[in-house]
Amino acid sequence: MNTVKLHDKEFGVFISCDEIAQAVNKLAERINADYASKTPLFVAVLNGSFMFASDLMKLIHIPSEITFVKLASYSGTATTGKVNELIGFNESIEGRDVIILEDIVDTGITLEILVNLLQDKKANSIAVATCLFKPKAYTKKRPLEYVGIEVGNEFLVGYGLDYNGRGRNLADIYKIIK
Ligand code: 5GP
Ligand code: MG
Repeated sequence: MNTVKLHDKEFGVFISCDEIAQAVNKLAERINADYASKTPLFVAVLNGSFMFASDLMKLIHIPSEITFVKLASYSGTATTGKVNELIGFNESIEGRDVIILEDIVDTGITLEILVNLLQDKKANSIAVATCLFKPKAYTKKRPLEYVGIEVGNEFLVGYGLDYNGRGRNLADIYKIIK
């Protein structure tokens, strides 16, 4: 198996770049069709979504715009991660059809905060496009409109996802071996 070592841990290929490309292609086709009469504003959540956003946007053929946001998280304790600050967002959101671009949705906590912020800014509509989704970890009721690939609860790296800063550049998605 194709493996890679990042810091102290070893990871093996789990989802190939070809599989990712197929999933991204399908999402782009659906978005192109669903938003044919609109001009969506894509909001890519940094850092993790940079590769997904880049690949997806090259396949979007309808008039659209993209902007980037960063959610700063402060964990008070080891168990509760709170996301409470937003870096970016100079664009006017009011009346826009927003499509959030995420690398992965896990518990959904990050996403919920962003959705609430966009609602406060009076977006006309909000949809979510995520490359990866962990349905077993998801704690929210809100359905996700565009899911690339569903995965289990394993820790993944590559294609934008990092392990302590490493691995974001990997073209395939890897899971931890040891
Ligand atoms: P949530 O708020 O949905 O629980 O988690 C969102 C964030 O947790 C993601 O944007 C990502 O940064 C991180 N995350 C969740 N699962 C994984 C994973 O398997 N690997 C990596 N590298 N990050 C993850
Ligand atoms: Mg993220």
